[in-house]
Amino acid sequence: MPSSSSVCPQCAAALPTYAGYTTWCEHCEWNVHGTTEPEHDTWYQRFYASMSRRHSNALFNSIVAARLLRPPVTVATVLAYALAACVHILTLCTAIGSALLISVDWPNFYCILLGCCGLGFVWLARPRIHPVPVLLRRDEFPAIYELADRVADALCAKRVDGISVNGDYNAGYARAGWKQQRILYLGLPLWEALDDAERIDLIAHELAHNINHDYRSKFFVGTAVSTLRELHSVLYPDRILPTEIGLWAFAAVPFTLTSLGLSYLIRLCALGMEHLLWSSSQRAEYYADILAATVSGKKAAIGGIEKLLLTNVFHFEVQRIVMQRTMQADVFEKFRESAAAIPDREKERLLRVGSKMLNRMDLSHPPALLRAKMIEQMAPEQPSLIVPDSLLNAARREMGELKPEIQAAIIDEYRASIYD
Ligand SMILES: [Zn+2]
Ligand SMILES: [Zn+2]
Repeated sequence: MPSSSSVCPQCAAALPTYAGYTTWCEHCEWNVHGTTEPEHDTWYQRFYASMSRRHSNALFNSIVAARLLRPPVTVATVLAYALAACVHILTLCTAIGSALLISVDWPNFYCILLGCCGLGFVWLARPRIHPVPVLLRRDEFPAIYELADRVADALCAKRVDGISVNGDYNAGYARAGWKQQRILYLGLPLWEALDDAERIDLIAHELAHNINHDYRSKFFVGTAVSTLRELHSVLYPDRILPTEIGLWAFAAVPFTLTSLGLSYLIRLCALGMEHLLWSSSQRAEYYADILAATVSGKKAAIGGIEKLLLTNVFHFEVQRIVMQRTMQADVFEKFRESAAAIPDREKERLLRVGSKMLNRMDLSHPPALLRAKMIEQMAPEQPSLIVPDSLLNAARREMGELKPEIQAAIIDEYRASIYD
């Protein structure tokens, strides 16, 4: 029940007001964003948010009109691969050239200096391999692995090599280490927020990234983009005039300006590759949603997306526990209570906010409202996978064992962030 009512200052509609929640207007969308607009720290995040704002609706409409989800191979994706090849070839040629330069005229000082500079560049530009995280042991967590295996089989996807649980309100899938192991990341806060069917959907969405033609996540292009991002961050000068070196600062200006120019060029190249891949990677996300919904059913798929929007509610509970020094309280339980008390009107607001802007956790995915709409229109009603309750209960129990450890890590991380 609303605690009181007010009038929209923009269109004069009557607005129900809930204490502790943002008052907003569903007719003219006055104050729909409330006071918390998501900020994007890096140029990479800002780029994704702006692409999403500009092109999401058009892409959604084209997919629904053609009823074609599987990302096709387009000129843009081929071009992105070609650009990535250039980045990798350049790195390889520099490595070989630098090694030859050092060895051919050994021990010529200038050749060694130049060769070392080249090798330094190669070190910076080297393709970054995702490190293998701490994994749950199969013999200690058999149920959660069996659940993931059953979902993988239902999707006709490869089974995972490892599962890692962390304190994020999120989940993920990545290939890690030199052996490119398939790793499923499960954020315990998000897992605890979901019901059993939504958990199946979450795992299915992440595993679907294995089979959804997600070009961006493929090793070749992904590593080239991260190489360019790394190079950009190294070359981008903090200041044009580095005053900490006194009068020498003026002599350094040509170098900082060159460095700035190069960093912008590299950024442009990285953005170009992302631009070329944006449409196919967004399609791949929709495709992963539909593949997952086929396994888990439409209701679970939409429910999971709606709960993803409650990330701030979880972080607020963490904040409250730290401020009130009630560290023994179960943050997951507190969050569930808060989430259950959220009025439908606030959930609707969060969905609308999610349709316009992407929060930081969810930057690579299409806006939540469009994801939910796509599932509504394209996914089957019934799940194709039925998991016995005994397995779901065992998986829930196993994940529950991790709660104290993960809660302590979340609280430590939060404290470190406020005392920094
Ligand atoms: Zn209004
Ligand atoms: Zn995804």
